[in-house]
Amino acid sequence: MKYLFGPVQSRRLGLSLGIDLVPHKTCTLNCIYCECGPTTLLTSEIREYVPTVEVLHEIDQYLSDRPVLDVITFSGSGEPTLHSRIGEIITHIKEAHAGYRVAVLTNGTLLWDARVRENLMNADIVIPSLDAINEETFRIVLRPHMNITPERMMEGLMQFGKDFKGRYILEVFIIPGINTSVEELTEIKNACSKIRHNEIHLNTLDRPGTVKWVKPASMEEMDEIEDFFRPLNVKVIGSPGMLEMNLISSGKSDDIISIIKRRPSTAEELNHITGIPMDELSRLLEKLEKSCVIKGEKLERGLFYRLF
Ligand code: SF4
Repeated sequence: MKYLFGPVQSRRLGLSLGIDLVPHKTCTLNCIYCECGPTTLLTSEIREYVPTVEVLHEIDQYLSDRPVLDVITFSGSGEPTLHSRIGEIITHIKEAHAGYRVAVLTNGTLLWDARVRENLMNADIVIPSLDAINEETFRIVLRPHMNITPERMMEGLMQFGKDFKGRYILEVFIIPGINTSVEELTEIKNACSKIRHNEIHLNTLDRPGTVKWVKPASMEEMDEIEDFFRPLNVKVIGSPGMLEMNLISSGKSDDIISIIKRRPSTAEELNHITGIPMDELSRLLEKLEKSCVIKGEKLERGLFYRLF
């Protein structure tokens, strides 16, 4: 599969089939915490990045025997709302494969554009990010394309909240020392209060980000920030760890590359996800590392492999 990946067992969404609508790594932002590596195409141009007809073909093939899934999620190697025909793909799933829920993980930066809001209207769940409101922090953390500003992003997030009838979850990525001062958190909390939403999820780094100095917040810090956001409907999305993922996969090198391209992983996680026995997996990882396809990066939680 070229555009579909997984399914992955996600704690908040359940068993989730991923759809990737942009080439690695195409985004409106170049976030310092991004797990997919640095953005190579920083753009705000909305167009058909991958052929819709091929994506629909893969979806129809995969769903033809009605696999058990909790959700189909647009996410992956960049910003899915950059794809001009995401709305048609969502509508096709809802009409041709009724019964499946559709979620979109987005950075929210294009919601000011009425075409993008319209494209997402038929989704069941939309989860945009809201990591910074302050102009300087916005630029430090998100390193946006020049057309993207916090004002425009807020405008889009608020308007979409008014129009969208599905589940609207705001995700705040916590970076200790960057967006954790009382001033920063107050600005983010006030911004959340202005947006019609169902829930706020607090997230922090779980695997290697793009920039080395970015560190995860401790669970104590996350709990304190959760308290700070109350009485809003907020919860901490902790480290997903191994239990959150269970990719049903045929294994081997292509599967390993497909997984770590979207999410750096440890050998244990890859073993858990793909079912490839540990000794075989170690040999494959060594081979891929020697061929400069992947590289290991040591973090507190273990040795993570990512694309070279
Ligand atoms: S974290 Fe999301 S929004 Fe940020 S650069 Fe990566 S893909 Fe883009």
